[in-house]
Amino acid sequence: MKYVDYIIVGGGISGCVLSYTLMKYGASVQLYDLPKANKSSVVASGLWNPVVLKRMKKVWKADAMMEALHTVYPEMENWTDKTFFEPLPIRRVFHNAGEQNQWAAHSDHPSFSPYLKEGVSDVPAHVIANHGSGLMKQTGRVNVSTMLNAVQSKLKETDGFTEAEFDWSRVESHGDGVRYGSLAAHAVISCEGAQSALNESTLNVSGFAPVKGEVITVQLDSDLQKECIHQGHFMIGEGDGKALVGATYAWDGFHEGPSQLKRVELEEHVRKVWSGSFATTSHKSGVRPAVKDRKPLVGPHPTHHKTWVFNGMGSRAILMTPYLAQTLVEHFMYGTALLEECLPQRMVKESGSDES
Ligand SMILES: Cc1cc2nc3c(=O)[nH]c(=O)nc-3n(C[C@H](O)[C@H](O)[C@H](O)COP(=O)(O)OP(=O)(O)OC[C@H]3O[C@@H](n4cnc5c(N)ncnc54)[C@H](O)[C@@H]3O)c2cc1C
Repeated sequence: MKYVDYIIVGGGISGCVLSYTLMKYGASVQLYDLPKANKSSVVASGLWNPVVLKRMKKVWKADAMMEALHTVYPEMENWTDKTFFEPLPIRRVFHNAGEQNQWAAHSDHPSFSPYLKEGVSDVPAHVIANHGSGLMKQTGRVNVSTMLNAVQSKLKETDGFTEAEFDWSRVESHGDGVRYGSLAAHAVISCEGAQSALNESTLNVSGFAPVKGEVITVQLDSDLQKECIHQGHFMIGEGDGKALVGATYAWDGFHEGPSQLKRVELEEHVRKVWSGSFATTSHKSGVRPAVKDRKPLVGPHPTHHKTWVFNGMGSRAILMTPYLAQTLVEHFMYGTALLEECLPQRMVKESGSDES
């Protein structure tokens, strides 16, 4: 029998950041993942941004999340000896003079000034910004595929990674913990992301409202440099004239893959912000594991013994997971309080059902 402290199910952004955090605090983990089934992290653009630009509001717990993010990803780079954390300025292109004024007012405010520079009018060649633009500070991008591969490779060195589907029906109580075949653990944590959100996991978790997203890659007629242009959608320069454009939102068609309708929407967006020519070279879709009340699901499973949930990251897994993993692991290690608003139990009460 092999013993580990925690079994983690799912090796997307959530499972990888949580695995690292548990190990940082001295716990051992066994990570199960079926990379081929990943419907969310493999499509993620990897951006982080603490401000909801459309409403000029800070994201929930933005300051604490930014602090954790700037600590954890560089540590993970050191741990894996791989580079995937990249500061990248986001340039908000204003729709009108009102947005420009609102930006100026916010950039002076102490709560926003760490994240917003003053409005600027000089924009890269070919970018259309008739009402000017503002640059953000402290924004950036994680190369998600590199990070996931790096963590999985690192865990393989100590036999801590299993590339297989985890079958919840085989989990048994074992002393004060759980047993899964010849593996015993203190507890098991579901980081099943989109699979759970789409009800494709045999562990029922309530409260999801999944959101489909699509991105296209375009070849521009000249290079955008390393910039992210944001005007409703984003366009990220990836070098050699390549740019990633996204992301869309839809609440259906989860199993239908990329759609012509959203491709047209994204190509129209490029025409709005880019005065040169371009050609679309690829198109992908994925599903965000979003939650009805827009808060993640972090805490004990409402009915399953020694089973925990770390999911519901919606469209902000990069920003939220370092902070949320820290709160969960500190709860395990020191008994500190969990975030009340994230407990999975709240969704069972809301729906009145007892999911198991
Ligand atoms: C188009 C698009 C763009 C996005 N852009 C961004 C962005 O710029 N920034 C950002 O922060 N977020 C972005 N997101 C959201 C982000 O992708 C998700 O929040 C994030 O990927 C969720 O990660 P996760 O690890 O919780 O779940 P997932 O990515 O779904 O990973 C779950 C993993 O668990 C595995 N798994 C599930 N069940 C089992 C099982 N029983 N056994 C074994 N393995 C299992 C799956 O195969 C998968 O590998 C975007 C999403 C989309 C669709």
